[in-house]
Amino acid sequence: MRRLVCDSMLGRLARWLRLLGYDASVPKRIPAQAAPEEALLTRRKAWQGRPGVVFIAHDRLEDQLRQVLKELELTPEPRRFFSRCLDCNVLVHPLSREDAAGRVPDYILDTAEGFNQCPSCGKVFWPGSHGKRAGTYLTNVLGQAQGGASGA
Ligand SMILES: [Zn+2]
Repeated sequence: MRRLVCDSMLGRLARWLRLLGYDASVPKRIPAQAAPEEALLTRRKAWQGRPGVVFIAHDRLEDQLRQVLKELELTPEPRRFFSRCLDCNVLVHPLSREDAAGRVPDYILDTAEGFNQCPSCGKVFWPGSHGKRAGTYLTNVLGQAQGGASGA
């Protein structure tokens, strides 16, 4: 899977790409040239047309997401959703219910299906911790992305 390197103007887009499970980093300085396994996502118009560069023309997040998925021919896989820390961009690890005790609210401990922890920042996640709206939002965005990409 290609690594997505986002310029600093695309921090919000990077978080949503992580939510889908993609490796989306936001380095302080975006490299001038893409490595073979990288795609550079930028809002710099001057970079448009360079190899490995996706020039993000849209202002709205959902349009940006759709553009990236379409141009890089990415098909999000639901099993990868929520597999990365949104802050650190690293893969989270499963956490046992015992170890989650004391780190999440009691009602979550009793009801959540499972827990993950970020090895970098230590945050604990569980299905639904990103909010129900995130799931609904993604379904809408991705549904339209796939519809728009058919036949391409
Ligand atoms: Zn983290």
